[in-house]
Amino acid sequence: MKQENKKNKYEPDARGFYGDFGGAFIPEMLQHNIDELLNSYRLIINDTSFREEYELLLSDYAGRPSPLYYAKRLSERYGTCIYLKREDLNHTGSHKINNALGQVLLAERMGKKRIIAETGAGQHGVATATVCALRGLECIVYMGACDVARQAPNVARMEMLGAKVVPVNSGNKTLKDATNEAIRDWIAHPADTYYVIGSVVGPHPYPEMVAMFQSVISEEIKAQLLQKTGRDYPDAVIACVGGGSNAAGAFVNYIDNDKVRLYGAEGGGKGADTSLTAATMAVGTTGILHGSMILLMQDKYGQITEPYSISAGLDYPGVGPLHSHLHRTGRAEYMPVNDDEALAAALLTTRLEGIIPALESAHALALLERIRFNPDEIVVVNLSGRGDKDMETYLQK
Ligand SMILES: *Cc1c(COP(=O)(O)O)cnc(C)c1O
Repeated sequence: MKQENKKNKYEPDARGFYGDFGGAFIPEMLQHNIDELLNSYRLIINDTSFREEYELLLSDYAGRPSPLYYAKRLSERYGTCIYLKREDLNHTGSHKINNALGQVLLAERMGKKRIIAETGAGQHGVATATVCALRGLECIVYMGACDVARQAPNVARMEMLGAKVVPVNSGNKTLKDATNEAIRDWIAHPADTYYVIGSVVGPHPYPEMVAMFQSVISEEIKAQLLQKTGRDYPDAVIACVGGGSNAAGAFVNYIDNDKVRLYGAEGGGKGADTSLTAATMAVGTTGILHGSMILLMQDKYGQITEPYSISAGLDYPGVGPLHSHLHRTGRAEYMPVNDDEALAAALLTTRLEGIIPALESAHALALLERIRFNPDEIVVVNLSGRGDKDMETYLQK
């Protein structure tokens, strides 16, 4: 959250562009909402009492700082020095709570009483519903009807937390369609409603704002590494990339340090050369989705192609503007990881470390098989979430 950490050349320009990507390509009817958000965001995040309240909740409610754990047996296995950043130990089981807390507190200060969100796997919906329960706010979560059916435990959690889950029956009935519905709701209720976006996507200022709320991840890694190794940076950081928020959080304080290699693992599905993939960097082209110029999966007519990954949190058809830019400039390297590789990595981490990772995070762990590291190198893998929600998938295999 510290402002001085954010001054790097990868911060977007005043219009929200990271190089060729980003911006706010929105219908005129949303202009007022976006202007209001942009102005309030700039004022409120610099307010000391806001920062204190947010940081107190991060520590006492979400359980931060999350540990940076030296994974001895994984390190032996891969012949290098591996640390896991334990976002899986956060309240609600992933990094999503960092952002949900930040945005809901912001909404409160803007005087908004009604919170809406979209969710795919349900993790962002659960995090948002959790913070709304904490603050006594109305919460409506849009979710594709397909996802409502396949993510029943998270739907139940959201409902128990008092949120209203609205199944969306348009399109393919998944995340993209839920997002369209949330945007429609926001246009219809500009005065009292705040839209909590769950990743570093959407129109400016969302990508910047979500990256800022997640930047606590690499801020902590710096302090923890310094204490453990005498150096505040690793040789490499690895994170999985759906929309890109946990990766943004893990990368952002290292983007300006060329000594740190940055690796992103995308949902390769059945293979980036098949139609069953979510590997946007591998197969995507430039286009506009949900208000932002990004790399996305589309056909030659500009119609979005349906993404597929075994992990519901990675099957978004685009990737946020910061990552699109880091990919284009070569600052970070992104690789598709297929379903079977992720499953193998999940089992290995479970058996060697006693940690059952989320399927999304297992994609990041799988890159340890692909990339060769030297014995004296330090590698940080961002363990974005825990695997409880994925037990059904793990047991089927
Ligand atoms: C949502 C989710 C992701 C993917 O979202 P990003 O915005 O790319 O971080 C990854 N891991 C877990 C555990 C998630 O819940």
